[in-house]
Amino acid sequence: MSSIFKKILDGEIPCHRVYEDDHVLAFLDVAPLSRGHTLVIPKQVASSLHELTEESGAALGSALVKVSNAIVKATGATDYNILQNNGKIAGQAVFHVHFHIIPKYDEGDGLGLIWNSSTVSDGEILAKEIQQAL
Ligand code: AMP
Repeated sequence: MSSIFKKILDGEIPCHRVYEDDHVLAFLDVAPLSRGHTLVIPKQVASSLHELTEESGAALGSALVKVSNAIVKATGATDYNILQNNGKIAGQAVFHVHFHIIPKYDEGDGLGLIWNSSTVSDGEILAKEIQQAL
């Protein structure tokens, strides 16, 4: 089934477009957490970040810098969060990869964070396991 963002990419659903290139589209979030809340999505159809080609990933990285810069200039917000949810329990609601750029004008607005930090007990082993999976 086609996601709502695929429908936006195909022009079946309107959006407030802010940036587009061969690999990426950026548009305003329909239910913003703050003024200027923007979504940056790949044109490649994929649900989670790790499923993307490196070409899509590189284009997203470049667009994120470009669009963040434009949002800072246009809104005057120098602080902002980049959020990217993968999977239902990570808070993903639309299953097409997307990055949120969420301006923060004040401590009480924009994205709220709960940071459940812990400690690393097996760092050497874990880092090796991840290195080997690259
Ligand atoms: P996530 O929880 O990371 O999957 O976030 C999905 C985001 O998509 C939410 O912030 C929604 O407000 C936004 N969204 C859903 N439908 C649309 C739409 N048609 N146009 C723009 N943003 C949308």
